[in-house]
Amino acid sequence: MLRSVSSTLRRVAATKAPTQIAVRSFSSSIATHNLSFALSEDQLAIQDLARKFAEDEIIPVAAHHDRTGEYPMEVIRKAWELGLVNTHIPQAYGGPGLGVFDGSLVSEELAYGCSGIQTAIEANGLAEAPLMVAANDEQKKKYLGRMTEEPLMAAYCVTEPGAGSDVAGLQTKAVKKGDKWVINGQKMWITNGGKANWYFVLAKTDANAKTGAAFTGFIVDGNSKGITVGRKEQNMGQRASDTRGITFEDVEVPHENVLGAVGQGFKIAMGAFDITRPLVAAAAVGLARRAMTEATKYAVDRKTMGKHIIDHQAVQFMIADMAIGIEAARMMVWKAGWLKDNGHRNTWEASIAKALASDVAVKSASDAVQVFGGAGFNTEYPVEKLYRDSKIFQIYEGTSQVQRLIIGKGIVDRITK
Ligand SMILES: Cc1cc2nc3c(=O)[nH]c(=O)nc-3n(C[C@H](O)[C@H](O)[C@H](O)COP(=O)(O)OP(=O)(O)OC[C@H]3O[C@@H](n4cnc5c(N)ncnc54)[C@H](O)[C@@H]3O)c2cc1C
Repeated sequence: MLRSVSSTLRRVAATKAPTQIAVRSFSSSIATHNLSFALSEDQLAIQDLARKFAEDEIIPVAAHHDRTGEYPMEVIRKAWELGLVNTHIPQAYGGPGLGVFDGSLVSEELAYGCSGIQTAIEANGLAEAPLMVAANDEQKKKYLGRMTEEPLMAAYCVTEPGAGSDVAGLQTKAVKKGDKWVINGQKMWITNGGKANWYFVLAKTDANAKTGAAFTGFIVDGNSKGITVGRKEQNMGQRASDTRGITFEDVEVPHENVLGAVGQGFKIAMGAFDITRPLVAAAAVGLARRAMTEATKYAVDRKTMGKHIIDHQAVQFMIADMAIGIEAARMMVWKAGWLKDNGHRNTWEASIAKALASDVAVKSASDAVQVFGGAGFNTEYPVEKLYRDSKIFQIYEGTSQVQRLIIGKGIVDRITK
């Protein structure tokens, strides 16, 4: 049922922290309406809010955060106040309660502004997704609830120095001692690693079990004794985002922080991607759209051989290809989101969306540099950053090869079973 804007505002105004007013006031059971390519009024309002936020708050500071690597906490705080962070935390736990489809509208717009800042924001969603999949009411109240009370960050700790794609090869272990678990191991490339109030941690709890039953997911408080946060990694792009190694040395976690049940961690960690991959894909679409916009603006202005370069067919076709990719990838994002929101399995579609949108982002950013010529190679112009930022989309949350493994297996299953 549509949530009344005025009653939501009244309820929010009555609480101490007037957080997330803007998005909450638009949230509705959008996900259940019939399939349509026309966004509802609420969806248009959410999209517009995120678009304006990107224009007013992200774009003006994006180059600064890229150059300095300074964490964009001020921007995140403002986004949080509008409800543009933690978008899928249900209203029952104080969040905006947006579905994947609606969240994708936000992700695309924020990434249009800066995909580094958007990744820092989105990493909260990645950490929260396992809780959405498997947490009990108490865990949700405690760990999702606090994310809506103040602008906190969280992180998803799965990858290790020795294993990323090969999740079965993770070495971090958790051993039960009395009513506690003791975690030892090292995680790597953890977004928000140095900023997290709590971590989702995947650890091996049964060395003899098959992958599907060998791992357990834990919620680990960021201030637990035995956690060492590594240095901020100097990455090629998305430099506003905070990426670190995290070491767990005899970190004690109460049994009540086990997600789902012991042995379900692998399924939970992978299930989270059904929510988050469409959103990463949406961000890739946002970056590609920015590349297309910048390339077009430049091409209608720059002249060579007596005409604007947009009138050279070779240049125009590069921009046309960007549009083809963006429109197609967005449709796939929307489909993956719509399926999830309507209770259908979307793993296959989420992988197609992620693989397609990532490739579109990299190609569009690369071609935008090409359209700019020498200026495209220079840090004074915006497309060089887009090019550096784009590459990570083919790597994190499952590489493009891993997505194709999932897609390939899905095709075989569909055709032969
Ligand atoms: C900036 C950044 C942020 C990140 N954030 C997080 C985070 O918040 N949390 C987290 O847990 N992780 C995070 N990661 C880790 C990321 O998800 C992994 O880097 C990624 O999954 C790839 O793992 P890997 O680096 O170990 O590469 P590898 O798994 O070693 O892969 C190397 C290459 O081999 C290919 N490959 C591997 N296996 C196969 C196969 N079976 N078939 C075909 N090709 C294959 C890969 O596609 C890749 O091209 C982040 C990484 C970066 C760089």
